[in-house]
Amino acid sequence: MAAKIKKGDLVMVVAGRERGKTGRVLRCDPQRAVVLVERLNMVKRHLRARGVQGRQGIIEKEAPIHISNLMLMCERCNAPVRVGFKLDHEGRRVRVCRRCHDQLDQ
Ligand SMILES: [Zn+2]
Repeated sequence: MAAKIKKGDLVMVVAGRERGKTGRVLRCDPQRAVVLVERLNMVKRHLRARGVQGRQGIIEKEAPIHISNLMLMCERCNAPVRVGFKLDHEGRRVRVCRRCHDQLDQ
């Protein structure tokens, strides 16, 4: 099955603690159906000192979000929308907005 959410997409979180927030997809893991979204679902990671110039402390980084908790933002609708698929005139499978039926992929 083709991926509904891809790297670089603008998505909205529709469930959980970060509900209603939007961000860009940084990385996808199609096997586990999770993505990393820029500045969303941040978790604190504790760093141990490594060597002389090793940094010690706490950094924040993105934790994976399951794609079922995300919806793709349609630029034309300016809203989170469901994604459908169709074949374009060259026979390629492209994503479409199920609301305005606009093509989401070039
Ligand atoms: Zn739309």
